[in-house]
Amino acid sequence: MATLSAQPRFLRSITLDRAAKFSSADFYSDINLYSQLYKKRSTDAIQLQVYSVPDLRRIPFDEAVKQHFEPTTTGTLYGPSWSTHWFKVKITVPHEWAGEQVELIWDSSSEAMVWSTDGIPRQGLTGDKGNDRRVEYVLLKKAKGRETIELFVEMACNGMFGAGMNNIINPPQENRRFLLAQVEIAVPNKAAWQLFYDMQVILGMANELPEDTVRAQEALYACNQVIDSFDRLNIENALQKCLQITRVFLEKKAAPGAHRVTAVGNCHIDTAWLWPYAETRRKTARSWSTQLRLMEDYPEYVFVCSQAQQLEWLSQDYPKLFKEIRAASKKGRFQAIGATWVEMDCNLPSGEALCRQFLYGQRFYEMKFGARCKIFWLPDTFGYSAQHRLFPHLTPVSVSIILQLPQIVKQSGAEYFFTQKLSWNNINKFPNTTFTWVGLDGTKVLTHMAPCETYTAQADVGDMIRSIKRNRDLAFSNQSLMPYGNGDGGGGPQRAMLERIRRMKDIDGLPRCEMDSANAFFESVEKQAKGLQEWKGELYFELHRGTYTSQAATKRYNRKLEFLLRDLEIVSTMCLVLEREFSYPKEELDLLWKNLLLNQFHDVLPGSAIELANIDARKIYQHIEIKAKKLLGDSLDSLYRSSKSLGEEPCYVAFNSLGWRRSEIIEVPSYTGDNLQQYSAGKNAGYVRVENDAFGFKDLAESTNDHKRVKAFASGEDFVMENDWIIAKFNQQGHLISLFDKNEMRELVPEGQAGNKMKFYEDIPLYWDAWDVEIYHLNTGKNAGTSNAKIKEVGPLCAALVVKHALSENSTAVQTIVLTAASPRLDFHMNVEWHENRVLLKVEFMWDIHSDLATYDTQFGVVQRSTTYNTSHDYAKFEVCGHKFADLSEHGYGVALLNDCKFGYSCHGNVMCLSLLRSPKAPDVNCDMGRIKDTESRPLTPFLRCGYQLGHHEFSFAVYPHKGTFHESNVVRESYQFNVPMIIRSVSQSALKERDKAPFIEIEGAKNVILDTVKRAEDSNHIIVRLHEAFGGRAMFKLKSSLNIQSIHRCNIMEDEGDKVEFNKAERVTRWLVMHAFEILTLKLKVK
Ligand SMILES: [Zn+2]
Repeated sequence: MATLSAQPRFLRSITLDRAAKFSSADFYSDINLYSQLYKKRSTDAIQLQVYSVPDLRRIPFDEAVKQHFEPTTTGTLYGPSWSTHWFKVKITVPHEWAGEQVELIWDSSSEAMVWSTDGIPRQGLTGDKGNDRRVEYVLLKKAKGRETIELFVEMACNGMFGAGMNNIINPPQENRRFLLAQVEIAVPNKAAWQLFYDMQVILGMANELPEDTVRAQEALYACNQVIDSFDRLNIENALQKCLQITRVFLEKKAAPGAHRVTAVGNCHIDTAWLWPYAETRRKTARSWSTQLRLMEDYPEYVFVCSQAQQLEWLSQDYPKLFKEIRAASKKGRFQAIGATWVEMDCNLPSGEALCRQFLYGQRFYEMKFGARCKIFWLPDTFGYSAQHRLFPHLTPVSVSIILQLPQIVKQSGAEYFFTQKLSWNNINKFPNTTFTWVGLDGTKVLTHMAPCETYTAQADVGDMIRSIKRNRDLAFSNQSLMPYGNGDGGGGPQRAMLERIRRMKDIDGLPRCEMDSANAFFESVEKQAKGLQEWKGELYFELHRGTYTSQAATKRYNRKLEFLLRDLEIVSTMCLVLEREFSYPKEELDLLWKNLLLNQFHDVLPGSAIELANIDARKIYQHIEIKAKKLLGDSLDSLYRSSKSLGEEPCYVAFNSLGWRRSEIIEVPSYTGDNLQQYSAGKNAGYVRVENDAFGFKDLAESTNDHKRVKAFASGEDFVMENDWIIAKFNQQGHLISLFDKNEMRELVPEGQAGNKMKFYEDIPLYWDAWDVEIYHLNTGKNAGTSNAKIKEVGPLCAALVVKHALSENSTAVQTIVLTAASPRLDFHMNVEWHENRVLLKVEFMWDIHSDLATYDTQFGVVQRSTTYNTSHDYAKFEVCGHKFADLSEHGYGVALLNDCKFGYSCHGNVMCLSLLRSPKAPDVNCDMGRIKDTESRPLTPFLRCGYQLGHHEFSFAVYPHKGTFHESNVVRESYQFNVPMIIRSVSQSALKERDKAPFIEIEGAKNVILDTVKRAEDSNHIIVRLHEAFGGRAMFKLKSSLNIQSIHRCNIMEDEGDKVEFNKAERVTRWLVMHAFEILTLKLKVK
């Protein structure tokens, strides 16, 4: 018979609040459940000594332990930021603790690492408050009492998020001090911990489940009962009574057909961001050793880590730990995944660089972990901004996911793609969760975007519920992946997360949750999903559009070095087949590529890292430039002996590294050949016309002397430049007021409008300074300062104007506008002194062209985007990424805007803009202003003269008008020519005569096929040739070569051999080969 309750009804809001305080570390923590987590504590049992490493050095264990250590105590402050302090810790376990588990509690308000005395990293620690806090290290599972334990702790004076003051993205505070707040040993009360974890799940369900469900009410009731039963004066009995209540609640099983969540442990470690690369090398060891410890206690636990580069670093710095990780990997517990060298930015690297990310990544995994990865893992960014965090746990980066990725993923042997990037769009919600992503060429990849909308899930009830609520494809696939574990510098899953997942494995009211690998998840989806939606084309990320422009030096270096390595590989491959003695610099090239790929990490190349990381990156770039130029010089010398060593008359040659014939006017310093038609204005260079074959070396003395001419002259108040194709008219400010195509009889600048206008925009984003240019900046454009133009070169081969811009009180620019006799292309070379605060500089052109679409260069292809603001998807793309060009074409005619190191474009209506420079102040306060400090000790290399030394920038853009639409135009090749100048060398006459002039490799028949890459095969002396279809249509072509080719095979990016291609040895040409739209085709040529 039911009895009446003598108690008043429990109220939801009050009970929720009461239950939160019951476990709180901040409220009533001297008497609540939190106060019972440890039953014994001791500080007396510990002796502490310290060695502070001078000069911010990060030294290895072996060196550290040999140093002289001094006694120290808690309460001491350590610094400055980025310094390291090694502690020798000696612990004597109290006699009466026999039989108990003993833990070290260490809080140095910073990151730290526990080392065993034989030099094995045991576990990472993260001090201070916050969700990342991890201060316990298990010393003994069962103490004997009176034993002595020795260990070392390496304290790094930075937090998980570096050393920014007050706000994580603020530039680091260089002199921060970190308090050694807590060092003690303690005995946990295991029953209290169990109740603590139980309550996290039950309270979570009371909070997160809809109020009108039975389970939400039951959870609330259970919370109330537990707290009522918590008699702190009779604690052990009370804990058992409470655990009985929670057990009854947690034992109810999930409904049949409940949603299934695969919980994948991970710790997203940014390879550099708010800390430099050197700190990342330590973060990996801290995070991953921690995960090995958790595996000891949780046999079902699976952890994944990505980024081959980080694993390679670990193998170099911590070989013993690396061995442990490989052992865990063999058991399937610690899975190295991801497929790429680093988790790269996907907007800015070239097509070939993306291929290399996969090539180097997959080869590393194959070599060190026995297999290629099946998943392309690129989860960054966005963390769900949980209410208990000041900042979302995220590393914001700018990965719009480009269109060629499906094809590259598949060609690398990977099958699946995991990300969760687009949940952070600030205009449109992306409509899919589990879907088939169809790339530019039609390749399909099974893709999943974690519906918990973070890669640093806390594995709490909220994450579980979001996995259903925000899953947009439940009808097709009743499962989700939940990547959990603290990221942004690592750490990874915490014990509490694993405990919560155990409790949520099979419980009424929640999805079922299983710890498993990401591979298992995708394999299961592949089997069970039905009718998945397809998403064709670009996964445009609607945020962080400033990262196309921030850190101009980094972008410039990346573009220039991608092309430099391309040239180096081509010339080295030519040497390999033409010179018997030549040794292909494979090892050097591997290192150069890996370093370039490293800097493509998703906070470095986008420009969203701190200054220390940017200085690191520039040193790496500088090294690549010096080394690659040296190797290129050596290779060229192998092909054509340098004139200097022979004492004969020098002979100047121009080398064309592009796979097609080109005709250009080039500037040659100190050239005085008979055919010189024009000295430069300063008389220190001459201009010559060069017509050069694919991969050809052309003697400049043979340069053709046709009748095409260019001239520059004043006309009234204006200046005119004219050649056989165009007449360009500029006013005194240097604005392009007319561009007339003489052959088509067509004016391109609308009446009363102009181009080449320097525009300033207010550039104050909502929060992410270096990352974002926001939509409202478009309302603030104004002409930048004043300018005046004058004629510099008058022809007949080269005409030039110089425009001096006073952009503002602080910034100036000198622009040289060049038109040559060889082409309708109008070049604009910029030298800018840049000293601004949150200002964006763009150049603007207006064209008399009518089109609703503009075409942008991307990796091995193009993407078309709207020029209207019709829909939210159109105006979300107010600033977009383009590589070497953007093109605006209507029926019959078009104009392309080319660039040599910029990426931020916008085309709206008939207005075309290229973003040139930004001036954000966080997280790098000197972004694009440079500072002399880190250049003093080193000479500047040519590529370095930009965005580095006190705000000096050099870059170029060009206007290329063309008959016909983009698809009928020569824009793709022109954009290569603009980026890849011919290489001028002085060589010996005799060497030049000896050489066969027949083409090395030539593509015949299809102008839409671009021969991009020529390299040696990874594992043999065969030649790899990579081509792509550039316009989006079918191509039929033949490959011709003067080489003694034995056979040709198709292959993938990994260079696995596929079908044989028919090759006529006598005529040295293949049969007709067919490529489909935007196909990336790799051929392996076996040469005798
Ligand atoms: Zn990241």
